[in-house]
Amino acid sequence: MLQILRKSFATGVVTTSYPETPAEISPGARGRPEIDFANWKDARPAAEVCPTGAIAFADEGGVRTATLDLGKCVFCGLCAEVDSAIRMTNQCELAKRRREDLKFTAKYELNPDGTHKAMIVSSSLSGTGVPPARIETHGRDARATTVARPTNESFEATGRELQARIHKVLGRSLHIREVDAGSCNGCEIEIVGLNSPIYDVERFGIHFVASPRHADMLLVTGPVTRNMELALRKTYDAMPAPRLVVAVGACGCSGGIFGQNYASLGGVDKVLPVDVYVPGCPPNPHALLHGILQAIGRLDER
Ligand code: SF4
Repeated sequence: MLQILRKSFATGVVTTSYPETPAEISPGARGRPEIDFANWKDARPAAEVCPTGAIAFADEGGVRTATLDLGKCVFCGLCAEVDSAIRMTNQCELAKRRREDLKFTAKYELNPDGTHKAMIVSSSLSGTGVPPARIETHGRDARATTVARPTNESFEATGRELQARIHKVLGRSLHIREVDAGSCNGCEIEIVGLNSPIYDVERFGIHFVASPRHADMLLVTGPVTRNMELALRKTYDAMPAPRLVVAVGACGCSGGIFGQNYASLGGVDKVLPVDVYVPGCPPNPHALLHGILQAIGRLDER
């Protein structure tokens, strides 16, 4: 007992204290890829190496429509290795309420050899629901960054906002039931991280519960295997209204690396109505909290 007490005192408090100490985020954390659409010379090499089809293109009548789908992206960085117009960032707050909002497209006029002659139009990242975070790039093509607000402050700000909304919409707390619908457990490790002494989301009034009958929100990971489909439906049906569904990770958003096949349905929205999509492979605790915040906002609007 004395040894335990001695060790506890020696360790001290590891939980991020608000508001004095912002949460730390690893500078090497990998987030979404960023494409310099204006200077993109050719979408084909990146589309060829992309393992999930997150980067894709379609040519028609001398015009190419190239797409980056963050709902499919596993943040592997292969595209950035073959294309200097693409770089990996550490931006992870990417949750969206509509699946289409995770897709970014650009149209190009083509040269005879299939390279891009000129950009006709492009969409851009917008509407994340929180102020833009500091975007840091790393790897081979690391360059200057866009700065609006340090990333390591984002968890704090998001947590405060979340707590306020939970109080307003749900009373004192938000109860979450998590269902692994066939994930590799990468997302589960990050979800467990939310409850770790470092993040300690119970401070914000968020509690994970065992019974769906006690839950306000269903957090679903995995591409939804056919074996888990019935269990997922039953869990959802057992929840009291109003209920929220958050699809976690590339698998939950789109089927990810598994896609749609004989064993996988290809994403949570193939089974249940999804309120918020949280991209990432896996999404880190900051990204998860940002997604939960988006979902609470949705409940607020009902
Ligand atoms: S980082 Fe995303 S877009 Fe790039 S190759 Fe990997 S999965 Fe595809």
